[in-house]
Amino acid sequence: MHKLVRSARFAVKTLRQTSLCARTITTTPFPEFADLSQLKSHDDLHKFSLENPEQFWGRLALSRLQWDEEFQSVLNCELEKGEIDWFLGGKLNASVNCVDRHLATRGDQLALIWERDEPGTEEYVTYRELSEMVGQIANVLRNSGVKKGGRVAIYLPMAPITVATMLACARIGAVHSVVFAGFSAEALASRIQDAEVETVVTADQGVRGGRIIPLKQAVDAAVAQCPSVKRVFVYQRTGADVPMGPKDIPLEKAMSGESTECAPVSLASEDTLFMLYTSGSTGKPKGIAHSIAGYLLYVATTFKHVFDYQPGERFGCVADIGWITGHSYALYGPLCCGATTLLFESSPIYPNPGRYWEMVQRLQLNHIYLAPTSLRLLLKAGDSWVNKYDLSSLRTLGCVGEPLNHEAWDWYYEVVGQKRCDVIDTWWQTETGGICISPRPSSPGAHIEPGMPMRPFFGIKPVLVDEKNEEVNGEDVEGALCLGSLWPGMARTIYGDHQRYIETYLKPCPGLYYTGDGAHRHKGGNYQITGRMDDVVNVTGHRLGTAELEDIMDTHPDVAESAVVGFPHDIKGEGIFAFVVLKEGVKHSHDDIAQALRAAVKQGIASYAQPDFILFTNGLPWTRSGKIMRRILRKIASNQADELGDVSTLADPSVVEGIVKGYKALH
Ligand code: ATP
Ligand code: MG
Repeated sequence: MHKLVRSARFAVKTLRQTSLCARTITTTPFPEFADLSQLKSHDDLHKFSLENPEQFWGRLALSRLQWDEEFQSVLNCELEKGEIDWFLGGKLNASVNCVDRHLATRGDQLALIWERDEPGTEEYVTYRELSEMVGQIANVLRNSGVKKGGRVAIYLPMAPITVATMLACARIGAVHSVVFAGFSAEALASRIQDAEVETVVTADQGVRGGRIIPLKQAVDAAVAQCPSVKRVFVYQRTGADVPMGPKDIPLEKAMSGESTECAPVSLASEDTLFMLYTSGSTGKPKGIAHSIAGYLLYVATTFKHVFDYQPGERFGCVADIGWITGHSYALYGPLCCGATTLLFESSPIYPNPGRYWEMVQRLQLNHIYLAPTSLRLLLKAGDSWVNKYDLSSLRTLGCVGEPLNHEAWDWYYEVVGQKRCDVIDTWWQTETGGICISPRPSSPGAHIEPGMPMRPFFGIKPVLVDEKNEEVNGEDVEGALCLGSLWPGMARTIYGDHQRYIETYLKPCPGLYYTGDGAHRHKGGNYQITGRMDDVVNVTGHRLGTAELEDIMDTHPDVAESAVVGFPHDIKGEGIFAFVVLKEGVKHSHDDIAQALRAAVKQGIASYAQPDFILFTNGLPWTRSGKIMRRILRKIASNQADELGDVSTLADPSVVEGIVKGYKALH
């Protein structure tokens, strides 16, 4: 019961932290937990959060969220059934928490900075302006028949209207399902069908990297295959003259007839806030559903403590809103905390590889949060693109999506951060809602270890499990990464397929949440992600994480990026196949580089870990969210290129053809 929450007092334990080549973090302590007066260090608070989750999260929920009605219990759970309820009895509204409650104190403060595709054409939106937009769209949706629980597909570019539409759904209790506005009509149609969507919100066109994306055209093609759709709202991003059919409604026109005020619906804590499809790196994308109170609390808390966000700062998450990173750290986390947040419409290389850094200087961003793939791309383009700009406003360099290899880590720290900023590698998933492992929060003076996300967040208990499903204890050990605690931001189901949710996350290691990733627990208890469990290669009985091999190869000065997969091998069980992309202007021959890579792997891991094949290629199959789709490479390496499966989330399918050609030439 939350009444108990206020009376806790706890023992102090000293901080233990060891590190070799380490960085010192200088963040503020934890004023939020000031009344837990005896808890001075991160370790103390972390321990407390695991031992007393109800008190910990209950206390935070009361202080961080605005409730219409306070909750009666903090956590109720039947894990085997996948029934996980936080804050039962509580009522609230996410749009009120992200907008309305800031109006009295910061109505004129910037909520959004819209970094449009063309550099220097940014636009600003205050909390008051955002509130008005949300009210109008909420009225439009409600008056056109969108009901509580109704699914709304949002297929819009990164823009204030997108954020306002998501919050408008939240205001009336509709469930938004954002589909990345770069996906094909087919990919959009399958997501609309899966969620039985009645309402679609789109734009005439999108603009990215100077190129027009015909969004309305894709929606028309998708809706033709989706009888559930009753209405399509069309926002004018470019003003292009697009054909309008009987279901189509011009959004701005509809908004102009509506009041800017719309009474929010008071919703239950466990009502669904949104659903969102995973990146599809390992198979068919899953429609992950998140509930209101737990998700909001978790993203607000992680936002504040992982990035050490201070009032007045400008936070720059460049992820698209079509991914969970955009949901949690461009929208819900920052806005719930009353922050100023960036909406990045462009590409990291438009009009040139200096885009991010020119933007940081122009907009005076204090934090940047990006993906390792884009970092490697920019690293490949050279330091001069960074050195041109004054990046002194930056304090935090965040990263998420894939393992951040050492070379990219060093470059981020030294070249971008000029050894002044903290590199914050964050590990989490669509399913976890928010960041689970990251160097911060940590006690002042703690260290950052390069190349790993390190520390579990409050309330997160990583557990490593071996092939027999037994827990692996101690330090300097590896295993499947599971989470042995419950946290409020955890997904509640896969939309329309609760059984798949149970099978995927709760069955593999009973009593634990199975992440599907592997991890190494280093000395000092720091975690490094070794790659996806599906990607573990087993060579003559030795299990190898692909991330570790790639990390070594990426360190070679000529290598821009690499991806390693296993393939069936008569003698060894599995062999190792490496796909390597070289930097521009490389002088050494492929043979010389291949030899050097084999030698580096032999030295860094072991002789048996040396790749059997190294294929030099122009690109790797990235998903739209910036991850390498290794399952495709596995198929190619196993000579099964005709069975690639669902490739709808690939950024550039033509890359695959090039790799297949290269494979054939090699054999
Ligand atoms: P699908 O589940 O459909 O295969 P996906 O797992 O790529 O797609 P996301 O939820 O967007 O979809 O990505 C989460 C995954 O990204 C993690 O499980 C992990 O494999 C990887 N990841 C995220 N952050 C990190 C990180 N900091 N270090 C290493 N890997 C990371
Ligand atoms: Mg996943």
